[in-house]
Amino acid sequence: MGRPVRVELRRSLGAHLAASSIPRRLILLDASLLVRRGDFERILIHEMFHFVWLRLSNATRRSWEDLLADELTRRAPGELGWSSEWRKNKLHSSDAVRRSPRWRRYACESFCDSAAWLFAGLRRHDEFTLPAHFRRGRRSWFARNLPAGTLVPF
Ligand SMILES: [Zn+2]
Repeated sequence: MGRPVRVELRRSLGAHLAASSIPRRLILLDASLLVRRGDFERILIHEMFHFVWLRLSNATRRSWEDLLADELTRRAPGELGWSSEWRKNKLHSSDAVRRSPRWRRYACESFCDSAAWLFAGLRRHDEFTLPAHFRRGRRSWFARNLPAGTLVPF
């Protein structure tokens, strides 16, 4: 098991709502996240899953990338959070094939946004723009690769 990750609430983080330092095992959250119901949970889970992503095996990360590449081939619009959506919108068609840094960053953010969508207990949110059909694919990926009860040390 890894060392504890500390979560601190800050009055303002400027342009960002959250910031994490993996080496310092620290997650900073902007206090404005407490205003709207569910946002705090959504962003906290997103940030926690950055730690999980690093602990996944290469094969598991590749399997997530394969899922995303398949979605792109099928022209899936939208995402499950703004962090991944704006990165998705900037992807070039060659990024997935080359596994460019832009692609890997998108894959990581998409993983964290999907976890937040799955586990924050919010049925709807205006940042959940991925169509239902593709959401089902993501849900079953998590069920297969991170089944309930899996302990991911982060
Ligand atoms: Zn993120």
